[in-house]
Amino acid sequence: MSDQAFYSGLQQKLDTLKTEGLFKPERVLASRQGAEVVADDGRTLINMCANNYLGLSGDVETQKAAEAALQKYGYGLSSVRFICGTQTVHKELEKKLSDFLGTEDTILYAAAFDANGGVFEPLFDENDAIISDALNHASIIDGIRLCKAARYRYANNDMADLEKQLQAATEAGRRHKIIVTDGVFSMDGTIAQLDRIVALAEKYGALTMIDESHASGFMGKTGRGTHEHCGVIGRIDIITGTLGKALGGAMGGFTSGRKEVIETLRQKSRPYLFSNTLAPMIAGASLAVLDRIGKSTELRDRLHENTAYFRREIERIGFTIKPGTHPVVPVMLFDAPVAQKFAARMFELGVLLSGFFYPVVPMGQARVRVQLSAAHTREQLDKVLGAFEHAGRELGIIKAA
Ligand SMILES: *Cc1c(COP(=O)(O)O)cnc(C)c1O
Repeated sequence: MSDQAFYSGLQQKLDTLKTEGLFKPERVLASRQGAEVVADDGRTLINMCANNYLGLSGDVETQKAAEAALQKYGYGLSSVRFICGTQTVHKELEKKLSDFLGTEDTILYAAAFDANGGVFEPLFDENDAIISDALNHASIIDGIRLCKAARYRYANNDMADLEKQLQAATEAGRRHKIIVTDGVFSMDGTIAQLDRIVALAEKYGALTMIDESHASGFMGKTGRGTHEHCGVIGRIDIITGTLGKALGGAMGGFTSGRKEVIETLRQKSRPYLFSNTLAPMIAGASLAVLDRIGKSTELRDRLHENTAYFRREIERIGFTIKPGTHPVVPVMLFDAPVAQKFAARMFELGVLLSGFFYPVVPMGQARVRVQLSAAHTREQLDKVLGAFEHAGRELGIIKAA
């Protein structure tokens, strides 16, 4: 406590974030997660900013499955997986995830952040090349930093640039090459062109890896993910993803792929070796979630109906959105102060959503991001659309009818 300059330096930087409007306060909820939430001041809000795509966070069936696993397996294990932290429920979940994703084996982590952080370093070294989409998630970027492989970056979703980078890595004589992309990019709701990526990988003898955090459980006909959506099941080498979004929403992550890859990660992946096992109640609830979405596409279908409805109606009112089909709907406001004012006004009107502006998105691309859920009722979506119309007219974003 003797270096006061350290603390005053931090305070200055925090103050700067506040004056620049980049400070991120926490929104405190007094209720469970859901289509409607209660804020700590008692106000009820329609929630349009959770990654709760299937509505399973806060869901009672998910909770009951967690309670059953809690009863059977206890609260925690006080151990990493390989010492005494592996229960039958963990092995069952790894098997079930492999079947669901169409892979040979799966390894669980405490978070997808850890899965991405621990996937590159054990598998690749300075002889290899990692070719990464410019908009990939922070955890992928950090994971690549922890590994000695040569780094190549291609412009977001730009297949011509990807091919250029593949050629550069080939000319440099790299031993193994791996193309890495988010299956879905969460700021734009853009879906990676996996059919074209797989074709390029085959042309250049490269491996492929996708992060399915914004896709597992609802993309593709049976919700298996972006690889199902793009018709390339069985042709992706490595799949990472989270249990903390559509698949129940608590926490946890995974890496899935060929058995040689997963076995190597069990021997060498540092977040797996040196961090505690996933709580058994989460593993048990995740199993129940996968069972539920394996039996019926009802939740997934409702999510896509809600998405199609919202995308159509918000454009009809006069707002500009990024085109697409994903439940992430960026409503473009372009100007940062307008986006900030708009999100604040929507909050007053009882709608929770988040505004994004530079540097999170490019300059002049400020937006509010809407995320649809299977839990939203048509009535709730109509209320949200009504609030959009109201606030949009007030702030001069859309014309009065
Ligand atoms: C949310 C997210 C993660 C992190 O997931 P956690 O399980 O919360 O650590 C990783 N990658 C992508 C693409 C994500 O959207």
